[in-house]
Order: sequence, then C-alpha cells, then structure tokens
Amino acid sequence: MKEPAPAVAKKLAKLGLRSADDLALHLPHRYEDETRLTPPESALPGTPALVEARVLNAEVKYRPKRQLVVHAEGLVLRFLNFYGSQLKQCQRAADEGQLVRAFGEVRPGFFGAEMVHPRYRIVSAGEPLAQALTPVYPTTAGLSQYALRKLVHEALDEAVLDDTLPEPVRRRHALAGIAESIRSLHRPAPDAPAAELVERTGAAWRRVKFDELLAQQLSMRMAYRARRARDALPLPATGPLLKRFLGKLPFRLTRAQSRSMAEILRDLAQPHPMQRLLQGDVGSGKTIVAAIACLAAIDAGCQAAVMAPTEILAEQNHRKFSDWLGPLGVRMVWLHGGLSAAEKKLVAKRLQAPAPVVAIGTHALFQEKVVFSRLALAIVDEQHRFGVQQRLALRKKAQAEFAPHQLMMSATPIPRTLSMSYFADLDISTIGELPPGRRGVTTRLVADRRRAEVLKRIREACAEGQQAYWVCPVIEESKEGDLQTAVDTFELLRKELKGLRVGLLHGRLAAEEKSSVMKAFVKGQLHLLVATTVIEVGVDVPNASLMVIEHAERFGLAQLHQLRGRIGRGSRESVCILLYASPLSETARARLKVIFETRDGFEIARQDLLQRGPGEFLGQRQSGMPLLRYADLEKDAPLALEAREAAEQLLDNDPQAARRHVERWLASRHEYSRA
Ligand code: ADP
Ligand code: MG
Repeated sequence: MKEPAPAVAKKLAKLGLRSADDLALHLPHRYEDETRLTPPESALPGTPALVEARVLNAEVKYRPKRQLVVHAEGLVLRFLNFYGSQLKQCQRAADEGQLVRAFGEVRPGFFGAEMVHPRYRIVSAGEPLAQALTPVYPTTAGLSQYALRKLVHEALDEAVLDDTLPEPVRRRHALAGIAESIRSLHRPAPDAPAAELVERTGAAWRRVKFDELLAQQLSMRMAYRARRARDALPLPATGPLLKRFLGKLPFRLTRAQSRSMAEILRDLAQPHPMQRLLQGDVGSGKTIVAAIACLAAIDAGCQAAVMAPTEILAEQNHRKFSDWLGPLGVRMVWLHGGLSAAEKKLVAKRLQAPAPVVAIGTHALFQEKVVFSRLALAIVDEQHRFGVQQRLALRKKAQAEFAPHQLMMSATPIPRTLSMSYFADLDISTIGELPPGRRGVTTRLVADRRRAEVLKRIREACAEGQQAYWVCPVIEESKEGDLQTAVDTFELLRKELKGLRVGLLHGRLAAEEKSSVMKAFVKGQLHLLVATTVIEVGVDVPNASLMVIEHAERFGLAQLHQLRGRIGRGSRESVCILLYASPLSETARARLKVIFETRDGFEIARQDLLQRGPGEFLGQRQSGMPLLRYADLEKDAPLALEAREAAEQLLDNDPQAARRHVERWLASRHEYSRA
C-alpha cells in the first residue's frame, strides 16, 4: 500500500486501518443510489436522491447565520460550513453555465426545493451517472467519504486477498470466494440486487460474516486450547472427604446440580486446567456445587480459593462453607477488609504453608501480596461482576508451574446466541432448574402514591415473623447525592414503621458495619433491611419473603431479576412489590412488563438483549471480546453455529490456516487478550 500522508494515516489508525488488507476489509455500512437522476421537485421527503440543476449564482449570506447559498434552476443549496474555494467554484460554475449534481435529502423551502449540506459535484451536461450503487464507509472526522473511498479502492487493487479457508471448508459451508465477495461489496455490479447489498443478505455478505464469526471463534478457541495445554494438578473425586460429604448432603441435589457436579469433577480429575462456567439462575444452588469442587482439592492435599465480588457475598460464602465443610475438619481462611494487619499477616502465612485450605474472600485474594503455596482450584462467584483487571490478576496467579483449575459461576443467564460467542473459550455447565419446594414469587406493580398500603403490608408481614427488603436506587454509589436517597429512606421508614427494627446497608459503610448489619438480618434480629443494590447478587436469607423496590423504573432488567431473586428462597409465598413513579416512560413500561410477566432468567435476558442490543447488554463484560462489525449474533445465529463447528475442525486439521485467518481479521484490532 502506498504510504498515506501521516495525517491521513493517523485518521486511518483511528478506524483501526493499518494495512491494505485492513482497508479491503473495511466494508461499506450502506449504499447510496446515484444511478439515476430525480427532478428536484419530485424528490420524496425523507429519501435521499440524486438531483441535477444548472447553477445560477452563489453568494454568502449572513442571515439568519453566515452561510453559502447556491441558487440553481429550481433548487437551492445551503452550506453552513464551507471553504472560500467552494464559493469561487460555484460562482465559476454559474458563469460557465455548468450543472451541480447533488446527493441528499430534498426539502421544500422558501424558494422551492432546498438541500442542506448535500454532497455535490460540479459537472458538465451529459456527465455519465454511476453504473452501480455507491458504497458509503464508516469514517471519522477530517477524513472525507470521498477520500476514504478512494483509499479503500486503491487498497483493493493491491490487497492479496487469497482465501484463508481451505477448499473443503468452503465447500462444506457453501461459501463464496473471499476475494470476489469483498470486491463485489466495495464495487457492486450494476445488476447486483440492491436489497441483498443493503440488507446484508446474499452470498458476498454471508461469506464476510462467516469469516468474521470464524475469526472470533478461532481466537477464543485458540486461547482455550493454549490454556488447556498447560499442566494442572489432577484432583480425582475419590478422596475420603468428598465421599463423606456426598453421603450426608444437607439436601438432595437437583438433577441439574448432579449433572454439573459430575462435569466439574470429571474436569478436575484431568492433569490439565478446567476452564468451566457454571451458569444457573439466581437461587439454583451453585454454591454447594462449588463446595463439592473444593473438597476434591482438599482431598488431594491442595488449596482452593473462592472469590466473590463483594464483602457481603464473600462473608456469606464463608458462612455456608463453614456450615458444610467445617464439620469435616476442612481448614478455612477468610480474607476480608475487617482484618487487622496482624490478622492479615497470619492469613498470608497460612496460605504460604503447604497445608490444604479453602480460602474465601473478595478479589483481595488475588492481590500480588497473597501467595498460595498449592493453589489447585480457583472459583469466581458472580464472575460477570468482575472486571477484566481482576480476571487478569487471577490469570497471573495461574502462572505457576501448575495452572489452577478454574470455575466461573454466573447467575446472569445470557442468551444462547451470545454465550456461544462470548463464552467460546469456556466449557459450560448449566443448572436450568430451581431446587424443589420453592414457593412462587408474586410480582406486583404499584404506583408510589399507594405507598401507605405498602407500609401496612410490611407491618403485617413482619408481625407474622417474616422479613423484608426495601431496595433504593443508587445509580452511582460514589455520588453523595444518590447515596443520600438510601439514608433518607432509612430515616423515613424508621419513623413510619415505629416498633419494627430497621437496618441500613449500602456500599459506603465500613466493612465491619456491613457485616454486622447483614449478620443481624440473617439472624432475624432486623425486620426490614433498607439497602441499595449491594444486595443485588448472591445474598441468601430464606426467611425474607417480601421485597419492595422503590423507583423500580430506574433499574435495568437484569438488576430487577437479580434483586427479586433474593426472595422466594424459603418455604413461604413471597411478594415483590415494584413501586414506580408515574408517569412511566415507554421503555420503563416495557421493562417492568417483562419483569411482571416472567421469572425465567433466560427469557428476561433475551428480552433485555432485544431491548438494548448486544453492546449495552454485555457492558463491561464485552471488553476483551473482539467486536463484530458485520455479523449480527441474533440474526446470524445459524451462521455463528456453522462458524463454531468450522473453527474446531480448522484448528484440528489446519492450524496454520487458522492462524492466518485470525491474523487477517484481528491482527490490527487491539491485541486480543481475554482475561
Ligand atoms: P445461587 O445459585 O444463586 O448461588 P445458592 O447456592 O445460594 O444459589 O442456593 C440458594 C439456596 O438454595 C441456598 O439456601 C441453598 O442452600 C439452597 N439449595 C441449594 N440446592 C438445593 C437443593 N438441591 N435442595 C434444596 N435447597 C437447595
Ligand atoms: Mg450464589
């Protein structure tokens, strides 16, 4: 590729375009029809059209704003930003009786048909029209569509575009050739069906999308295989503690729990690190499966670590693990914010000793200072709440001679179409059912003017020995103003509910305070817990059967689902009251409707994805995943399935082609380092 000027190269880099191949793969995001002329007066409003008219004069006007106004026969063009050279060019065109050919939306104006900021050219009569649709490229400020198109087309003549896919793969998936596909998208043939180009159907787009999906799958499966190739300590499921625990479980495992457990134990027995995601809706019982996995590590004389995203959750995990594994004599350490320096030292010392132990805590567990002597299993609870940084820290701990087995747990079900892409570098176990004997949760939508009735309801429930949550929206925990809502609500409710013991929990409390409030609630010493979304994930207090979510309209779907999952955990019928401030916006109404109508986490996730689109849906989870530019996981799900299958085969049969394929599609994108 001819070296572009440095200023241009910088703009191109901004678009992720560094080589001729990159430019060739920078495909149009839409097309414009400049193959025919429309008389200005018959252009349809809202539809861009190509019009042509003789230039009469051009002048700069200052009312209402400085602007260049070009008068042509039956057409006025207006430009608010323009160069002096444009004025001259148009004046000359007027003198010479030339034509202006402009593309854009035509609107009725004071002097007849008008266009604001159209793309235009000065032409002589009879200038030929475009033969085919004109591609339009995503670009960046300072790089004109015209310049970029020229660069892309030059690169296209230069790019090699040999096919990275072996012939049998192409045949098997009925794929068009890559070079012809790419060329035809940049330079559509005059007779190319416009609908196929625009709607991104047709053979050329199919090939491009397949290649893109394949690159994504390949890069993730390569990461998977590379990690899987490492050595790990095998943790066979034959030890005495595991046997004893399975012989006297606190409850009968559901079928889905048993299946997931078997999958995990099978992985753990291998001399290569497990990389498994255990996904199951809130309350499906993932914790006990995690505890069982830890026993396999302890039986093998190794260490296991269980990391949770919040102190509250870590403490709860610690409590459960202590109940279950304590009686077996399993040693446990709990690393939390409330420890004194001396205590922390002690914990560090115990982890450095070669004795088997289960370590429980937050991401503090994977700080550099903490050294494990024999970490064989790392469990990450509510993994979607961790950022890339924290997952990287965990990976770093895995740099030892033996990589620890990894179990990620998530209560945020994500639609299959997304998980296929997003979790392609993990094996997945799914707990798709809830333990038996759960009573339903009834969801009520209540306008906040009926707050008094809600208070009455809380009083009655608590009089019967039930407990309740009152959740306040805190969008940004770090903002004082927002936090105030929880504190104010707490003060107010304390007055309104005289005689009830009310507690307050939010993210800014000191660790000890959080822990003592939570303990009091668990023990039934508090009737009502006023809380922010710190209780969103994982908190498990079966006696709490009533939840009020204030300003429910401000919460996202996943959040509401998680919050509601805190109740309906005991044997009592539970009620979730969604208090909303009216009038509701259209989107808020749609969200609340979904929550009201279904409790199925997967269905809610699907709706969430539909309402928000994948970018927002994935949020921070997306970081690290190569973004799709052309394929759409929802619409192209069948193609994604094919790409997934092809990825495995290519890695087995032709790893070199696989590498070249990834290089072509992802090399210039930011270095792919998935945590
Ligand atoms: P989550 O998957 O959301 O982490 P937990 O592991 O916290 O769910 O389990 C939710 C509750 O259900 C806990 O109180 C747990 O002890 C209980 N539980 C888990 N499995 C079963 C089961 N098979 N039968 C009865 N109760 C169970
Ligand atoms: Mg949990």
